[in-house]
Amino acid sequence: LARVHALDGATHAYLETTEQLAFKAAARVDAAVAADDLTACGPLAGVPVAFKDNMNLEGAHTTCSSAMLANYVSPFTATCVARTLEAGGIPLGKLNMDEFAFGSSTETSAFGPTRNPWDLARVPGGSSGGSAAAVAAGLATVTLGSDTGGSIRQPGSFCGTVALKPTYGVVSRYGVVAFGSSLDQVGPFTRSVEDAAYALNAIAGRDALDCTSQAVDTDFTANLADGVRGMRIGVVPAFMEAKGLTPEVKAKVEEAAEHLRALGADIVEVELPNAQAAMSAYYVLGPCEAFSNLARFDSVRYGYCDPGHKDLGSQYEASRAKGFGPEACRRIMLGSYLLSAGVYDRYYYPAQQVRTLITQDYASAYEQVDCILAPVAPRTSFAFGEVSDPTDMYLSDMFTISINIAGNGGMSMPVGLGAETQLPVGVQLISPQFKDENMLRVAAALE
Ligand code: GLN
Repeated sequence: LARVHALDGATHAYLETTEQLAFKAAARVDAAVAADDLTACGPLAGVPVAFKDNMNLEGAHTTCSSAMLANYVSPFTATCVARTLEAGGIPLGKLNMDEFAFGSSTETSAFGPTRNPWDLARVPGGSSGGSAAAVAAGLATVTLGSDTGGSIRQPGSFCGTVALKPTYGVVSRYGVVAFGSSLDQVGPFTRSVEDAAYALNAIAGRDALDCTSQAVDTDFTANLADGVRGMRIGVVPAFMEAKGLTPEVKAKVEEAAEHLRALGADIVEVELPNAQAAMSAYYVLGPCEAFSNLARFDSVRYGYCDPGHKDLGSQYEASRAKGFGPEACRRIMLGSYLLSAGVYDRYYYPAQQVRTLITQDYASAYEQVDCILAPVAPRTSFAFGEVSDPTDMYLSDMFTISINIAGNGGMSMPVGLGAETQLPVGVQLISPQFKDENMLRVAAALE
């Protein structure tokens, strides 16, 4: 906590520190140490942790980096947060993000951006930029983020941390403010693959409060030392030839493939013929789900209430206009249009069909391979303001979005600095559904 107070002025990863909750959690670990029984806590006993600010932690704010929720204090705790604390984690605080997780740079936060610890003039990526920057700057050992289209993996790549989005359903979404409920998934940022596996062990598994969560009995640390000999690892030629992929990032992915081949893996080319439609499908499905989920911020049940209105309609209108920032408004308007009568059939329905095709593409690719290797983001971190057009910003996720569409696991594994920019580059490892241990095993071999 002293380190956060001393250093986070520069990075602004934290929105709030939670001293009282940290001391309470530490007392429990101290008691377990005194009784010489750390098993009373769990695999994260004494580990400093922090949470993206869309995750509820009772007694702390949950702002989603939005003026809409600036004063909202959580009356309950999200399952992923509760499990981290049950495992012995010490909660240091809540972390900055793009507003409601819309964005790829943390620049849409209503409370000012987070800066990349590698270069304070650059973005940490997003939307989980605070979660990535906190781990990269040594201001927490494990943080949790959420990923709807790339929001764990892309900031992990920009900040040089291990960043893991599990298969949809591995981690409960209960208590995490929803963006796209069929796409959202929670996962850890860490400095090592082993730490990510321990963190995932702590948070994974069935939760009666999220009907999409699944029973998980995998020990994600079990196969980290197995190596990749005999594993079949796919590369997707269309990804490697994609327009916009910078030569230095491409070179890092090729180096990783060579390295894995040298360690005894088979590198196999696989096709994902419909993946090029993932971006289009996502910017239909994502805004539609966001529009529905954000309807609850109506100034009555939750959120900012603009004072002095005589009728409900004008109170809604003014509260939402003032509470939501420009990107949130863009998503809401897009979603409301796309779901309107006459339009719905032309966009939402085909996007769902594309979703099925992409899911099938991945399923058939995994008949040939155990894991896929790909870029995370087309480039390394950019400077503040450098990407100002929203559709250019959306391209940050061109290699991550199809994985949310299909529901597979994906992670960013840091592989050093780009030859040209000298900034961190991550490679993406993509698992078959509910085989997240495959990507962790490959990641461990790259460490
Ligand atoms: N950048 C993407 C978006 O703005 C993904 C965000 C996310 O994964 N939460 O929708």
